[in-house]
Amino acid sequence: MANDQHYDLLVVGGGINGAGIARDAAGRGLRVLLCEKDDLAGHTSSASTKLIHGGLRYLEYYEFGLVRKALKEREVLLRAAPHIIWPLRFVMPHVPHLRPAWMIRMGLFLYDHLSRRELLPGSCGVNLDKHALGVPLQDSMHKGFVYSDAWVDDARLVVLNAIDAQERGAKIMTRTKLQSAHREDGLWQATLVKDERTEIRIFARAIVNAAGPWASELLHQHLHQTARNDVRLVKGSHIVVKKMFDHDHAYIFQNPDKRIIFAIPYEHEFTLIGTTDLEYKGDPGKVKISSDEVSYLCDSANRYFKQSIKPADVLWTYSGVRPLLEQEDASNPSAVTRDYHLELDAAHDQAPILSVFGGKITTFRCLAEEAVNLLEQPLKITKTAWTANASLPGGDIPNADFFGFFQRFQSHYPWLPKALAERYAHSYGTRALRMLSDCRALADLGEQLSPGLYEAEVRYLVESEWARTTDDILWRRSKLGLHATPSSVQVLQEKLTHLLAVAGQVPSAVSTNTAATAAGVTSLAAVSTTSEVR
Ligand SMILES: Cc1cc2nc3c(=O)[nH]c(=O)nc-3n(C[C@H](O)[C@H](O)[C@H](O)COP(=O)(O)OP(=O)(O)OC[C@H]3O[C@@H](n4cnc5c(N)ncnc54)[C@H](O)[C@@H]3O)c2cc1C
Repeated sequence: MANDQHYDLLVVGGGINGAGIARDAAGRGLRVLLCEKDDLAGHTSSASTKLIHGGLRYLEYYEFGLVRKALKEREVLLRAAPHIIWPLRFVMPHVPHLRPAWMIRMGLFLYDHLSRRELLPGSCGVNLDKHALGVPLQDSMHKGFVYSDAWVDDARLVVLNAIDAQERGAKIMTRTKLQSAHREDGLWQATLVKDERTEIRIFARAIVNAAGPWASELLHQHLHQTARNDVRLVKGSHIVVKKMFDHDHAYIFQNPDKRIIFAIPYEHEFTLIGTTDLEYKGDPGKVKISSDEVSYLCDSANRYFKQSIKPADVLWTYSGVRPLLEQEDASNPSAVTRDYHLELDAAHDQAPILSVFGGKITTFRCLAEEAVNLLEQPLKITKTAWTANASLPGGDIPNADFFGFFQRFQSHYPWLPKALAERYAHSYGTRALRMLSDCRALADLGEQLSPGLYEAEVRYLVESEWARTTDDILWRRSKLGLHATPSSVQVLQEKLTHLLAVAGQVPSAVSTNTAATAAGVTSLAAVSTTSEVR
């Protein structure tokens, strides 16, 4: 039997948890295959609020353990990937009738001290009447609080984990669905379907079910297994509008319904506002924002900002489904724990299956570490956990000093326009040098296919980051979709078809529109697909 049919571990799902587990396991010497039915980060892991955070609001639910774990991870991740993860300060205007000042001060004190904090400044009060942070806010806002968390490019975090996994020996197969699997002679025998047409049979000593919102469905319908846990699907949506303020802090607003929403500087020219929390019963692949959610988010912002926004101002939206751990005692979706649970079924020395329920982008690394630790005994893994001090691809920046790195980067490529240099440095970190290795002048980047997108980058994304469709490039490997036009998407599509043919890959069966819909994306500026908003 061909060697590429046999693996130690089959990881199902190329979201953050699957990619993180594949990376950890490959680094411990396992022969890993990761299969993802769509694109990497094609679903929940590109639809988050993009915060690496302890979760200030979870303190109200007494989730001290989760907050401590997440705060600790915040420091680990800021060091591991300083190009795609960076500090962000948050301003919370004080609204006395929603939460008293003593309560917020106590919460922020805990937030500052629950875990060791070396990279981020602590919290403080701010006089909004006198400070620039108060300028965009309504005049009724006098006092506020400022605290630290971090920002992450969620979709790129997934891709970087997949790259690292691959460089440590894992095989990454996108557009490849686990169709079925059963145990036979102490192994899992699995049938994968690539590009909806090619069946592939493989054998694995263990399976990790990291199918996110599909985790329960995968277990019951494709693997015919039972589990003690279940996922609870909770939808969350975001809107993007033209930028509403000029500084680099984000806002956290308290709503009368006790929820909070964020207004975050986004891609230089925009403000990202989210999120919602709604029970979801539909197909996770078809999630999209409702007009009620758009109104809810506009109203939430309008309670605080001087400038009022309405649904017609919304330029882009996205939605995702949180695959939360089902808890019988939590009726309110906002109250369901954001912590995770790993369920290992290795009874009677059978080939094990480990399922992931719940989790956050922030805690993916420790989730992955715990998952592989659980497999240590059944798979006889001898190498110990290793990711706590390892950088992610492109993140090997001395002292995690992104600004120092950027200065060196700019002086190395003086011909790169500053905005482009900044985007390359942030997206690819030290890997940008590989992408630009043959370039000595702007002309060497090739044709500009879409605003800010040159041929050299597209080539790199196809060759090194599994990009197969325009959506992969415009909405996940980058957010250049915000600047694209229908004709530039067409130009990109033609180039992509050519590059994929040269690389010997068939164009993906997933069309641009389908991928956008699958990710819950509604774009008005560019590849307009399932617009409900306007
Ligand atoms: C609105 C919203 C805001 C959030 N904000 C934050 C935040 O700010 N910070 C934070 O830390 N977390 C946040 N989260 C949580 C975080 O995004 C999720 O916990 C995380 O992305 C889940 O990752 P996952 O890998 O489990 O699932 P997914 O990313 O959905 O990955 C699962 C993958 O499995 C694949 N799959 C399913 N079935 C199969 C099959 N049969 N074969 C092959 N592949 C299959 C799917 O295609 C999918 O890509 C947010 C979530 C939402 C929805």
